[in-house]
Amino acid sequence: MKTTVFLRRVLCRVSAVVLSAALLLPVQAQAQAPAKKVFGSMAGAAALKPASHGFYSRGCLAGAVAMPFDGPTWQVMRISRNRRWGHPELISTIEELSIRANRGGWNGLLVGDISQPRGGPMLTGHASHQIGLDADIWLTPMPNRRLSYREREDTSAISILKKGTNYVDDRRWNKSYENLLRNAASFPQVERLLVHPGIKKKLCDTVKGDRSWLQKVRPYYGHHYHFHLRIGCPPGSTDCRKQKATTPGTGCDSSLQWWFDVALAPKKPSKKKKDTAKAKPAKPKVITVADLPQSCQAVVSANEKPVQSAVYNARSLSGFVAPQLDLPARFDPMAALASRPIEAGGKPALKAIAAATVAVPDKPQSVYEPITGPIPVPTPRPDR
Ligand SMILES: [Zn+2]
Repeated sequence: MKTTVFLRRVLCRVSAVVLSAALLLPVQAQAQAPAKKVFGSMAGAAALKPASHGFYSRGCLAGAVAMPFDGPTWQVMRISRNRRWGHPELISTIEELSIRANRGGWNGLLVGDISQPRGGPMLTGHASHQIGLDADIWLTPMPNRRLSYREREDTSAISILKKGTNYVDDRRWNKSYENLLRNAASFPQVERLLVHPGIKKKLCDTVKGDRSWLQKVRPYYGHHYHFHLRIGCPPGSTDCRKQKATTPGTGCDSSLQWWFDVALAPKKPSKKKKDTAKAKPAKPKVITVADLPQSCQAVVSANEKPVQSAVYNARSLSGFVAPQLDLPARFDPMAALASRPIEAGGKPALKAIAAATVAVPDKPQSVYEPITGPIPVPTPRPDR
């Protein structure tokens, strides 16, 4: 009798161990899984308090909200990628920018990639955009009509550079581009705007009056079809890692010239090439979920927020009705793999958008009442 009780107890304990091991296994397996696969397959946001965990290029996002597909002064592009998610602070910044941009002669924003529903690394493109604080905004103004779902997939953005050069095309550049970037820089929470060095140069050469905002405008590769807006760690995101402060000054100096002389200069054939060709390229390390901040494991395993409640409650949506989009029933996260890059090919809708590029009103026309109260100006960067 005693032995049966003992055996039962042993069996009980064994099965408890087996059971807990089985429960633990998926969590452990998930922690060791490539982070881009895990985060790239998430279709909805984590039902948690909004928080950005980690760094712009190594982290994840809890409690994300989705940018509504349409607002009076914006349209979300490449909807199939499902990258319209961000920290509420970023999404509200994009909304406010769209309103200010519209007042500054830019018809409205075409919003590109923000983040995945739970942030994290992506299966395609972008080293950053992982913690819901980065957004790509097309350097093409919104047309005067609503684009269809298909058009948002196929329409290409327009480069502002003169073909074959690293300099802005003067036939297309006008004050509305400057106003757009100045407006974007005017938000205290916006820390950096990444643009092609040619755009930075154009601003350096032409911006009159207050030039302090140019400090936030940083030259970088690409970024002549879109610019990249980055906000700082929002309050409440305790394990969000701040970026190094930008160098004081406008940056209209030798550091900018370096881009033209070195970084973008045509590469001279290297003598060493033959030797290096033989060397095996180092395999890039696969970033696993465990390589991200600890809190990202909870972000992965959290319940999904229903999409309806996850869409950002934008103030400009009251009274605004957008035409119904022929959306797919359920997002296929893998659609991002097949999605067209924004700079690919030309499509008919391009014409309509290009036409909007030249329309700079003498007086800013607004669909909005001006924002009452003072417009926030950039606060000086703290010394490092
Ligand atoms: Zn970007």
